[in-house]
Amino acid sequence: MADKATGVGTATKRARKAVAADPGEGTVTTTARQNTSIDTVTVPLGAESVDPATLPVRPGEEPWTSEEVHELHTELIRDLERLQNEIGAAEAAISGLMRDSNDGAGDDQVDAGTKNISRESELALANNARDSLAQTEHALARLEGVGFGVCESCGQAIGKARMQAFPRATLCVQCKAKQERR
Ligand SMILES: [Zn+2]
Repeated sequence: MADKATGVGTATKRARKAVAADPGEGTVTTTARQNTSIDTVTVPLGAESVDPATLPVRPGEEPWTSEEVHELHTELIRDLERLQNEIGAAEAAISGLMRDSNDGAGDDQVDAGTKNISRESELALANNARDSLAQTEHALARLEGVGFGVCESCGQAIGKARMQAFPRATLCVQCKAKQERR
């Protein structure tokens, strides 16, 4: 009981300290952002930093609206967090399986084989998640910077509908099809 109370108290103190140490947090205005652009390069800038008019569309498509940009940005951030959690969980599972196999002196061969298979599938899972994470980070960087929605192969617009369906797409449908035929 007493320990728990102390723990909560410390956490609160720590949280307060963090707030105090960062006086600018939460009160950043547009004027402040202009002056601190160097500091904000590495953190996601947010959907507000994206000018919808700079995002390309294919002939016949409506221009991007700020709501659509916002929605897509939110989705990418959510993916980023989900993938980071997946990688963390897979890594924890892998280190758990490694520990098990190290002190598994009494394991029979079937057990050991099963553990190898699950370790391999966790590794594959973590690698897939890492690939997706890299693609998501790339998409966010392009959305907040330059190049979002532009085909990396032919330089044409990938298309709004395709970007909304696959926010991590880097190729237009034609170039993607060409790549898959190879
Ligand atoms: Zn293309």
